[in-house]
Amino acid sequence: MGTFELISNHGGHEQVVFCNDTNVGLKAIIAIHNTALGPALGGTRMWNYKNEDEALIDVLRLSKGMTYKAAASGLNLGGGKAVIIGDPKTQKSEGLFRAFGQFVNSLNGKYITAEDVGTSVQDMEHIYMETPWVTGIPKDFGGSGDPSPYTAHGVLMGIKASAKEKFGTDSLKGLRVAVQGLGNVGSNLVRYLKEEGAVITVSDIDAARTKTIAAQYNATSVSADEILFVECDVLAPCALGAVVNDGSINKFKTKVIAGGANNVLAEARHGDQLKELGILYAPDYVINAGGLMNVFVELEGYSHERAFEKTRRVYDNILKVYELAKKEGIGTHTAADRLAEERIKTIGRLKQRHPGKSTSRAYTTLREVNNR
Ligand code: NAD
Repeated sequence: MGTFELISNHGGHEQVVFCNDTNVGLKAIIAIHNTALGPALGGTRMWNYKNEDEALIDVLRLSKGMTYKAAASGLNLGGGKAVIIGDPKTQKSEGLFRAFGQFVNSLNGKYITAEDVGTSVQDMEHIYMETPWVTGIPKDFGGSGDPSPYTAHGVLMGIKASAKEKFGTDSLKGLRVAVQGLGNVGSNLVRYLKEEGAVITVSDIDAARTKTIAAQYNATSVSADEILFVECDVLAPCALGAVVNDGSINKFKTKVIAGGANNVLAEARHGDQLKELGILYAPDYVINAGGLMNVFVELEGYSHERAFEKTRRVYDNILKVYELAKKEGIGTHTAADRLAEERIKTIGRLKQRHPGKSTSRAYTTLREVNNR
């Protein structure tokens, strides 16, 4: 398949930039999916892709996902993503990231980057030496640092909204919540759940980590094979994607699935199946948007309090999804897509006619912050 055909088949992106610098061994692709709501924001992934087509398909898919995530979260951001082809363990260098930063800079703020799988705060610092269009930079530089506590707080809000919808109250006191994956997001979520009085079951493939977190928060621990199928009120996947698949779908003993992991449904049809089974599903990109909200605040000039406050909005965003799903008799995953598409259409059209202040304000404030 030709490159343009591939782009058309994966969401009709506005712009795809191939970045090549043989001096530093840089091969990267920046994909800008949609900027109707604002500049395209999304992280830079560094991965040892098997071939260039695999890298291109990944960046096209991920950038489209960012458009939906920003739109459903009520942010004035578009969707973009970048991939650097290479082994993050052996092929990183200051020159590589600075050269990449120059490509980001050439887009003049249309694409804003951040950390992702395979890239770190230090890599963002190198990018920042060449361009202001980078978030997730260290706190000393006016950045927001690690987004995980904000993602986890957003997930907590989404669980509360889901409890309200399913059980009639958003109090988590006594609610049985099973958390799969105790990394950056999962461990912060367990901390918040404990504060809310939930009865928690945890598991991680790292047995030592499971033991530590279980002891710290007085949680029950089970093996990594068991966690998805324990009897509970809420299952919170916070590890890998595709946990709802043909093999697992009929084995869940939960009433709600609401967690931080990306791409929870192996395929969209599994969302329809969850609806038939009466299991309420909080769509992944709506419930795990707290980290994105946090970096958005960085664009306005960072404040921890405002970032934290913003993540509370996940509660209303999730309830809106449930409301539409009920009204239309559709799965919650479909309702989330419709809400995102509707916002892109309406607000995008409005911004075309009257370029509002929100995007330009974000641009201006970012410059101010970076010039301090
Ligand atoms: P992480 O790597 O810090 O943690 C993942 C944890 O899951 C690890 O401790 C790992 O050992 C464990 N794990 C892997 N497979 C498992 C299994 N089968 N059973 C139990 N545990 C398993 O990652 P993270 O930053 O906490 O992200 C977790 C998920 O949330 C990912 O899907 C990520 O894409 C998504 N997410 C993260 C953020 C963020 O701010 N970090 C934002 C949005 C979405």
